[in-house]
Amino acid sequence: MLKSIACGLLLSTAAVALSACGNTGSETEAVENQTKPSAPSVDRAMIDPAVWPTLAELALDPEVEARVDDLLSKMTLEQKVGQVIQGDSNALTAEDVKNYRLGSVLSGGNSAPGDKPYAEVADWLEAADAYYLASLDTEGVEVAIPTLWGIDAVHGHTNVVGGIVYPHNVGLGAARDPDLVRRIAQATAVELNVSGHDWTFAPTLAVPQNDRWGRGYEGFSEDPEVVKSYGGAIVEGLQGDWGSDDFMATGRVISTAKHFLGDGGTTDGVDQGDARISQEELRDVHLPGYETAIASGTQSVMASFSSWQGQPMHGQKELLTDVLKGRMNFNGFVIGDWNGHALIPGCTATDCPQSLNAGLDMYMAPDSWKGLYESTLRHVNEGTIPMERLDDAVRRILRVKVQSGLFESVKPSDRPMAGNMDLLGSAEHRALAREAVRKSVVLLKNEESALPIADGSNIHVVGAGADQIVKFAGGWTLSWQGRDHSNSDFPNGETFLQALRREAQVEGSLVTFGDDVPADADVVIAVYGEDPYAEFQGDVENVDFTPNDFDPEALEGYREAGHKVVSVFLSGRPLWTNPELNDSDAFVAAFLPGSEPAGLVDLLLQTDPAYDFTGTLGFSWPKRSDQAVLDKRQDNYDPLFPVGYGLSYAQPGEVGMLSEDGAGQAAADKSVFFDKGMVPQPFRLTDMGSPITLPYLGEALSVVARDFSAQEDALTLAFNKDATFAIFSAYPKDYSREANGAMELVFMGKSFGDAVTLDVAAGCIELGDCNNYYPVTFGSEWSETRISLRCAKANGADLTYLKTAMAVKGEAGQEIGIADVRLGQESSDSLSCDR
Ligand code: BGC
Ligand code: BGC
Repeated sequence: MLKSIACGLLLSTAAVALSACGNTGSETEAVENQTKPSAPSVDRAMIDPAVWPTLAELALDPEVEARVDDLLSKMTLEQKVGQVIQGDSNALTAEDVKNYRLGSVLSGGNSAPGDKPYAEVADWLEAADAYYLASLDTEGVEVAIPTLWGIDAVHGHTNVVGGIVYPHNVGLGAARDPDLVRRIAQATAVELNVSGHDWTFAPTLAVPQNDRWGRGYEGFSEDPEVVKSYGGAIVEGLQGDWGSDDFMATGRVISTAKHFLGDGGTTDGVDQGDARISQEELRDVHLPGYETAIASGTQSVMASFSSWQGQPMHGQKELLTDVLKGRMNFNGFVIGDWNGHALIPGCTATDCPQSLNAGLDMYMAPDSWKGLYESTLRHVNEGTIPMERLDDAVRRILRVKVQSGLFESVKPSDRPMAGNMDLLGSAEHRALAREAVRKSVVLLKNEESALPIADGSNIHVVGAGADQIVKFAGGWTLSWQGRDHSNSDFPNGETFLQALRREAQVEGSLVTFGDDVPADADVVIAVYGEDPYAEFQGDVENVDFTPNDFDPEALEGYREAGHKVVSVFLSGRPLWTNPELNDSDAFVAAFLPGSEPAGLVDLLLQTDPAYDFTGTLGFSWPKRSDQAVLDKRQDNYDPLFPVGYGLSYAQPGEVGMLSEDGAGQAAADKSVFFDKGMVPQPFRLTDMGSPITLPYLGEALSVVARDFSAQEDALTLAFNKDATFAIFSAYPKDYSREANGAMELVFMGKSFGDAVTLDVAAGCIELGDCNNYYPVTFGSEWSETRISLRCAKANGADLTYLKTAMAVKGEAGQEIGIADVRLGQESSDSLSCDR
C-alpha cells in the first residue's frame, strides 16, 4: 500500500519518480518478483541487421579449425560448460580451475595475488603457473584445455609493480596518432608477457557523449572518427597482424574490444546506464571503433554493462549474434563484463541462460562462477541452452586458444619473456611513454609569453599532485580506483616535480616547491585537477571543476604578486574551468598522463631538442558547467574550445577574459549520508519516514546532535517505544551501480548503556517495505559496522529506486550514537548477508 501511495504523490511532483513508479509494475508484482524489476513495458526496440555494416570474413586457418573440431569431439559436457565460465583469482583456487575445467581466470582491478593491493612480477607468475598447470591436469578427461589468464591493462600493464603507466585514452586521443597507440599496445603486450598474462581487456572503444560519465577517460574521443582510426591499430599492436607470422608470436597478447555497444551513449552519462538512442545513432557514433578492431582480428569483444533502449546488452541477441557475429563476421568470442549477465531481467549472477542464448560466449563470473557453472550445466541438460549454442561458444573460445598458440605453450614462467625484468619498464618503454605524454597534452591558453619558460628562470611549483604519481595516473593503476599508492610503488616512473627538477637544472633554471611562493619566482607552475577514480565512482552531476586539495583562488594572488602563472590541469575529462583559465597566463590540459611526466616538461621548458605542442582536443571543452554534452554534429554546438582545438608555439591564439557566470552547484557526493552533523541533499533524517529537524523530541524517539570526533558530528538516538529512525530521500536515487560495484553502508556506532542489539537496514525503497534488516550490536566504545549493498540486492531490494539509505529499529530504553554514515568499498569486515 505504502508504495502506491508514495508513487501517486510523487507522480505529480518529480519526473524521476514517474519513471521509477512506472517501472516497478503493480504492487503484487513488486512484492512477488523480488529478484529484478520487470522489463520496461515499452515495445522492444528492434535492430534491423540490414542497416548495419558488413565486414569481410577474415580467413580462418583450416588447420586451426580441424584441431578445434578434434578437441570438441573429445570434450565432456562438463568440460564444455567450464570453458564458457571465467572466475576471478580472488575467488578461486587452482584446484577449482582443474575440477571445474574453467576456461579462464581474470584478476579484477583489486584482485592482485597476495595481500597487497598490487603485486610484483614473481607473484603474478606464481599464480599464472598454478592456474595453467591445474588446467592441464588430465585426470578424468581425454583432453585438457589450457586456461586463459586475463587482466585490465588499459593504459600500460599498470597492475604490476614496475609497469609503465601510459596516458589514459582521453590523452592518447588528443595525439591523433594511430602509430603511437600501436607502439604503446605492443610495448604493453611485452610487459604482459613478462608477468605471464595471455589476455588484456583493452582497448576501450567507447565514444563518450556525456562528460558526466566517470569512465569518459577510458575513451579516446567523443568523435567516432578518432576512435575508428585507433581501434585497428591497437589490436594490431597487441596481437600482431592477423594472418602474419607475427600474429600472437612471443610478446603479443589477446585483445578485447569493449564495451559492446553504446557504453558511451547512456542517458546523463550514467555508468551502466541505458542508451536511449536510435539504432542509426548507435551504429554511427558507437560502432566505428569496432569496425576496424574486428577487421584487424580482435579475438574477443566484451559485452557492455549498459543497456540499449532498456535492453541490457548482455541479453541483446540482435546485436551480439545477428550484427556482431553475423553481419560483421566477428570470429572470436564474446566475453561478459563483471557479473553483467545478472542485469538481465529474470537473471541472477549464478543463473542466466538468457545471456549465453543471446550470444555471450564466456561469462565473467568473478565470485559467482560455481553457482553459474551448476545452473548452466543444468540448463544444457534440460535443453534451455541448446547444445549447438554451447558448442558454438566453446568452438570460438578454443579457436582463440589454438590460434594464440596456447596449446603449444609451456607454463607461464617458462615462456620466453617471462620474468625478464629488463623488459618491464625498460628505457625504451619509458621513452615511448614520454613521447606519448608530449603528444597528448593540449595547450589551451598561452598569453604574456608565459610558455615556454626561459632558461635560467626561477620556477616555483605549487599543488601536492606535482609530487604524486597517482594524481597523474588516474584510475585502473595498481588498484581499481588507483588511489593511495605511494611514489615508491612505481619504481619505473617519476613525479612531475622530479622530472622538472632534473630538466630545469640542465637549462640553468631553479625549481622550488611548496605553499610559500618566493618573491623572486618568475613563474608559478600550479598542478591541480581531479583525483583518481574509476567506473561509477567518477560519475558527476555537472562538469564544474570542484577543487579538492588545491585552492585555485590562490592563482589570482600569484599574478598580483607579479609571477606568471602556468596551470597544469589534470583530469579525466574536460571541465568548466573559466575562473582558472582567467587566473592563468598559460593553461595546459594534461589529462591523465601517467608515470612519465617528463614529456610535459619537454614542452614547458625548451629542452634540447626543443618540442612544440601538437595535441588537439578529442573532447569539446565546455563554456558552461551544464555543457556535459557537446556534439559538433548539432547546430547549437557552442563549446569554449571545439574538438580539434589546441595551441602551439608556432600557432598561438588569444583566449582573453572568459565569463565566469555559469558555475553549477558543486556536484553532490552520492556516497555520504551523514557527515559532520550534515545530511546531504536529497536525504533527510526521519522518524518513521517523516522528516525531522534537530533537536527532535518525538513520542517514540528523540534525536539530538552530540560530539564524536568534532562538535555535534554524531547523533544520539533515544528510543522511548518501538520506533524506526531512517535516513531517507523524498525521491528515489539510483544505487544499482554501487551495489554491483561492491559498495557497502559504513557507519560508526556505540551504545550509551549496556551493549544492545538493534536491527539496521541498508538500502531499501520505502521504509515500510524494507525487509533487509541485520542485527547490529552496539557496544560501549565507538566501532564501525559495514553492511554490503549486495545484501540488500540479495534480499530483493531494487537499488535503482533507493530511498532509504539506512534504517534503525529500536526498542524502548535503548540509547545509541551513530556517526559518519556513508558508502565505502566492500571489505572483509562487512557483516555476512545471512541473518
Ligand atoms: C569493467 C571492465 C573490466 C572488468 C574486469 C568491469 O567492471 O567494466 O571494463 O574489464 O570489470 O576488471
Ligand atoms: C574490481 C573491478 C571490477 C569492479 C566491478 C572491482 O572490485 O576490482 O575489476 O571492474 O569491481 O564493479
